[in-house]
Amino acid sequence: AAGAAEVRVGMTADRVTRRIIAVGSGKGGVGKSTLSANLAVAMARLGRKVGLVDADIYGPSQPRLLATEGRKPEAENQKIHPVPSPWGVPMLSMGHLVQPGQAIAWRGPMAGNALGQLIDAHWGDAEILVVDLPPGTGDVQLTMLQKHKPAGAVIVSTPQDLALMDAARAIRLFEQGDVPLIGMVENMAGYICPHCGESSDPFGAGGAEAAAMTMGLPFLGRVPLDLKIRQDSDAGSPPAAGDGPQAEIFATLASQVLA
Ligand code: ADP
Repeated sequence: AAGAAEVRVGMTADRVTRRIIAVGSGKGGVGKSTLSANLAVAMARLGRKVGLVDADIYGPSQPRLLATEGRKPEAENQKIHPVPSPWGVPMLSMGHLVQPGQAIAWRGPMAGNALGQLIDAHWGDAEILVVDLPPGTGDVQLTMLQKHKPAGAVIVSTPQDLALMDAARAIRLFEQGDVPLIGMVENMAGYICPHCGESSDPFGAGGAEAAAMTMGLPFLGRVPLDLKIRQDSDAGSPPAAGDGPQAEIFATLASQVLA
């Protein structure tokens, strides 16, 4: 029986052509991890088999965002098994392999190897791997492009990030690596008042869309600066899994990314 199971797994692995969707940004703090987690959860809700890799090896935040802190992946045949999350998205993060709170200060090549362990894991029938990249353009990103080429990349930027053209470097990195750019998501765009729910645009509206056009990039949509997104995310309860307007925003974005 064990043999039969092996064969079936082997066939499944052959049948599934797994697509890596990389999520990148020019700098940190723009909401790349929040977006990656919620996109993955929204894709799962849309019925897709999706896994999440936290490649932000120096500052892994996915275990907290998806409530899998303290879980330890099991190893089998030199590979690790993803950790199931309560949101239908199996996942792996450096945060699962090191002690919580332990500082990660690796040199480039080691970080690249760590990424390999997370990506070449027992992903089973996952057809999509959403990969939350570290911000910027370092060794992990290069390993990603050279060894685990993504089928496409999503760029996250804030209105300010765009104004400073920080996103442009991340975009060039993918272009140079011949990775198709799926498009840009503008995060923290406009402000939802926690009292009245009214939306306002302290930085003006439409800037990101125009900038994306200028850079020849499809514009996938905007996610407002919304206190509930931060609170739910910090509590390990991704808003994409809820039933508020936030879930609709992430569902729309996810279908855009999959289109
Ligand atoms: P990055 O991965 O780019 O460093 P994070 O996803 O960790 O950024 O987000 C940085 C902080 O901003 C987190 O506290 C997160 O909860 C918050 N945040 C991200 N997006 C939003 C949003 N749309 N509305 C409110 N807070 C957000």
